[in-house]
Amino acid sequence: MAGRHFLQIPGPTPVPDRLQRAMHRQMEDHRSSAFPAFTRRILSRLPQVVHQTQGEAFVFPATGSAMWEVALVNTVNPGARLLAPRFGQFSHLFIQTARHLGYQVDVLEEPWGEAASPERIEAALAADTTHEIQGVLLVHNETATGVTSDVAAVRAAMDRAGHPALLFVDGVSSIASLDFRFDDWRVDCAITGSQKGFMLPAGLGMLFASPKALARVEACTTPRAYFDLRAMRANNAQGYFPSTPALSLLYGLDEALTMLLEEGMDNVARRHRTLATGVRAAVKAWGLRECAQRPEIASDSLTAVLVPAEKDARTVIDLAFRRYDIALGSGLSEVAGKVFRIGHLGDMNALTLAGALAGVEMALADAGFDITLGSGVGAALAQWRVPA
Ligand SMILES: *Cc1c(COP(=O)(O)O)cnc(C)c1O
Repeated sequence: MAGRHFLQIPGPTPVPDRLQRAMHRQMEDHRSSAFPAFTRRILSRLPQVVHQTQGEAFVFPATGSAMWEVALVNTVNPGARLLAPRFGQFSHLFIQTARHLGYQVDVLEEPWGEAASPERIEAALAADTTHEIQGVLLVHNETATGVTSDVAAVRAAMDRAGHPALLFVDGVSSIASLDFRFDDWRVDCAITGSQKGFMLPAGLGMLFASPKALARVEACTTPRAYFDLRAMRANNAQGYFPSTPALSLLYGLDEALTMLLEEGMDNVARRHRTLATGVRAAVKAWGLRECAQRPEIASDSLTAVLVPAEKDARTVIDLAFRRYDIALGSGLSEVAGKVFRIGHLGDMNALTLAGALAGVEMALADAGFDITLGSGVGAALAQWRVPA
């Protein structure tokens, strides 16, 4: 098809031309004496994306799912107890990963469309008087439902309970798009991947670790090999990696950091907030509801839209794809067929997103939804227009 494909899923996100060019490189010797300057340029700037000034940041050739494992096996001893709210497919998979690794996870079930409950986390930690629970697993932005949890409130709940558990935060669909305050929230391990806010292909996983988490790494007795942070730290300290780095992606990351830091992380977060406001106005104008049950928890990086019970969201997604060359996110697991998701993170502005909303609108009309063409787009434009 002529024109650009609209990749409007919440990851992978479109890769800007500037990053594609940065990655189009010949391979080079990753053991050369010139290499450490490149490694250091990346690792010294990466923490700024999450406002991290203490601890260290790491990059693995991996994806977000692998980084759950990296965070856990390096800091939590075998068989330990963990606590995790579950409110969507990604919190579910984080829990499953921990269980497959042999950890015992106390799960706090929340309705899909709700956020983590700081009160319930506080109560569970307060009840653990012997401090058996070693970590709290939190998905900051639940990509299955378009819900953002309040990490600061969870940290405050942990403090009120006086509990020493580590705070693990999955920031895969929040880091580099939404505001993420690693220091202020006293996160111990935050993880993400390259294909969402960083606007790159999948293939890099990042871990941000606090001094408290790093202090656990040496003594942690959980078996690990490829994902051993001890080897990664020792090599990084010299400007190298323990095995062959994913060089093309690192060149992309180097340039993505330049792009993000040029825009400024506060501006990046503000842009995503503004874009989300327009999408939410469009959903309202279409007479549809969001999966996020309350406006305060609605995500700024994607919107999961509920369809009425007699409709199947998969029809909308397929019509959009086949007729209008736009890819929307499908409903995962419990919400399969009930929602379609509009990704609005990464390399996006009001005009590209207006085009995407136009595609959604036509697909909705084709699928028999009673909507007025232009209603959603118009509502979004009213949000985005720069007032005189
Ligand atoms: C995409 C995503 C993941 C999984 O990351 P992969 O890179 O696909 O392994 C994990 N958590 C969240 C919140 C995500 O959005």
